[in-house]
Amino acid sequence: MQPLTNRVKVVDRKPMTFWDKIYIPAIAKGMGITFTHIFKKKPTVNYPEKTRPFSPVFRGLHVLNRDEEGRERCTACGLCAVACPAEAITMEAAERLPGEENLYREEKYAAKYEINMLRCIFCGLCEEACPKDAIYLSETFAPANYTRKGFIYGKDELLIPDPKTQPEDYAKAKGDK
Ligand code: SF4
Ligand code: SF4
Repeated sequence: MQPLTNRVKVVDRKPMTFWDKIYIPAIAKGMGITFTHIFKKKPTVNYPEKTRPFSPVFRGLHVLNRDEEGRERCTACGLCAVACPAEAITMEAAERLPGEENLYREEKYAAKYEINMLRCIFCGLCEEACPKDAIYLSETFAPANYTRKGFIYGKDELLIPDPKTQPEDYAKAKGDK
């Protein structure tokens, strides 16, 4: 029969020889390959003691950002929620009261801000949509949890530490971003 492509491979169906039948040369060949791997560099790492370097474009857990004075940057405009293809973001806006200028950068802020990590596909569109540089995806994994509710991150988990009161934690959370 005429083959449809030129990728056809003719299979060698010649009868097995004595050495083929006792399998010892094939086993020795296989063990030889295994032996050569002993001296090769291990491709595995002892996670979590050691970690691999992240790609420069890695997108991990979200962080709600503060400005250099420690004020929350988010103005609860909702653009991130609109841009999110997974509908993972919900928020409630509130008016900043007199005397709260040191807490919130804009006149409106997110009183409640939640991201459902079970919905999130870590696409980064929320970060791109934000006009206030208020949200970014860090190099941290979302930790495992036993309940679905535990994957809904609120402001208490998302908000970056205050650079004025917790400079070390702030620098650690900020990373290279
Ligand atoms: S990373 Fe993508 S899916 Fe996740 S919250 Fe942001 S926009 Fe939604
Ligand atoms: S994170 Fe940015 S885009 Fe989302 S509500 Fe806050 S200011 Fe708007």
